[in-house]
Amino acid sequence: MTSKDKFRLGLAAVLLAAAGAVFAVLSSISDIPSDPEAKTLWYCAACRSGFELTGPQTAEAVRQKVVRPPVANADGKPLPRLPGVTSVEVVACPFCKQLAGVPARRCPNCGEVFPVRTENGGVAVCSNPDCQWDPTTGRKAEGAKTAARKP
Ligand SMILES: [Zn+2]
Ligand SMILES: [Zn+2]
Repeated sequence: MTSKDKFRLGLAAVLLAAAGAVFAVLSSISDIPSDPEAKTLWYCAACRSGFELTGPQTAEAVRQKVVRPPVANADGKPLPRLPGVTSVEVVACPFCKQLAGVPARRCPNCGEVFPVRTENGGVAVCSNPDCQWDPTTGRKAEGAKTAARKP
């Protein structure tokens, strides 16, 4: 093996590692639109406001936050949790600057912006108490979900 070959091998290894790192970063971010005009919707849990970011802003701002959901609620009952939800994407809120912005959706029923997920990784319903639209059914949430949302 000549030194030139060694150099080529080394370069290939470096390129492979770089490609792997880029892939790892890209694959950890789920909903970033490739269209630069497309917006992503976020909800700040700290100051309770919704805000939009463009695709490039999102790619820049998004951070992974490891979630350790409580395993049981105050009654000692186990909380439902989606398997495999171990981290969430968070962004810094443009209003209060806290890293408290979580992926959000706009309620098609009342227009309220609310987080996509509850704290324990379940699907959140519309946070407007008069609406409580449930994305999984497309109707007003009932029973446990509405009760669970009370502060
Ligand atoms: Zn905020
Ligand atoms: Zn609503």
